[in-house]
Amino acid sequence: CSSSTPITATLFPGDGIGPEIAESVKKVFTTAGVPIDWEEHYVGTEIDPRTQSFLTWESLESVRRNKVGLKGPMATPIGKGHRSLNLTLRKELNLYANVRPCYSLPGYKTRYDDVNLITIRENTEGEYSGLEHQVVRGVVESLKIITRQASLRVAEYAFHYAKTHGRERVSAIHKANIMQKTDGLFLKCCREVAEKYPEITYEEVVIDNCCMMLVKNPALFDVLVMPNLYGDIISDLCAGLVGGLGLTPSCNIGEDGVALAEAVHGSAPDIAGKNLANPTALLLSGVMMLRHLKLNEQAEQIHSAIINTIAEGKYRTADLGGSSTTTEFTKAICDHL
Ligand code: NAD
Repeated sequence: CSSSTPITATLFPGDGIGPEIAESVKKVFTTAGVPIDWEEHYVGTEIDPRTQSFLTWESLESVRRNKVGLKGPMATPIGKGHRSLNLTLRKELNLYANVRPCYSLPGYKTRYDDVNLITIRENTEGEYSGLEHQVVRGVVESLKIITRQASLRVAEYAFHYAKTHGRERVSAIHKANIMQKTDGLFLKCCREVAEKYPEITYEEVVIDNCCMMLVKNPALFDVLVMPNLYGDIISDLCAGLVGGLGLTPSCNIGEDGVALAEAVHGSAPDIAGKNLANPTALLLSGVMMLRHLKLNEQAEQIHSAIINTIAEGKYRTADLGGSSTTTEFTKAICDHL
């Protein structure tokens, strides 16, 4: 893409702290001269019958048309009986893999200074298939669906990612000793794909052992691929290794070239509207989006400005032990640009 022709990207500011951190991304991108026109879509207040959710058909069409977007967190009311917004997006747009890089930020001290791993989460099935029902009163059932097609697809993505990003090892995370059929099929598919990539070391790690190893020595891992629920949990654990949810980005990959980047964290209702949120995770998600668009120069510029601002230590949000507001921290990043 030449930097003179603007690219249209969909932006979902989302709920809770979403609009505040989306504002920060817009400011930083404008300061860096990123050639992007945002097409903003908000979550509706009524269910759209065409999507059976609060997400409008038009907003989904926007992502399908632009093929690229950035998404703020969306709140899911617990037990209210309507389809989760995130699930709707993943299913309707066929966002089959969620890529979550997790690395130590230079200048921000945690227990580890050598974390550099990528979790790749299957995003469409497993326990998130939405198939729950009551069998009889007091007994409910939830179906975990694992298919060969979705498992091969995410495994292929993980190995291809490892190969094209200079990574050496892919670890499949599972609980196939107990869930022999479902996780067993997932592993079988990973093994099949591994055979096509002899240059990548392949290993299988049971999820409980994986948690222990991650906490003890995260440098043991490189690329991790896993079914949906494990990916959800492990990536939050990984966020904790490098300083918390305010820092970790992700990108959802769809089958027909769609990429929808989003922070790993949720809408943080406890700090929403207070100008306290750390916009780093959404900003770094924006950087992933720019790399996807091959706008590498701007991606690097913004990435360095974020890292330098945090490393300098003068402006940090409360989650990183500082006292800056979202706006002050954003301004500091813009000043570094
Ligand atoms: P959460 O990630 O919103 O918050 C967990 C903790 O981390 C809170 O203390 C919060 O203040 C803090 N935190 C999160 N992001 C932060 C940031 N950028 N800066 C500073 N602190 C931050 O998780 P939750 O409270 O379990 O979920 C709240 C809502 O978000 C729920 O409705 C949930 O369904 C939704 N959710 C959405 C997504 C998504 O849209 N992808 C992901 C997770 C949760």
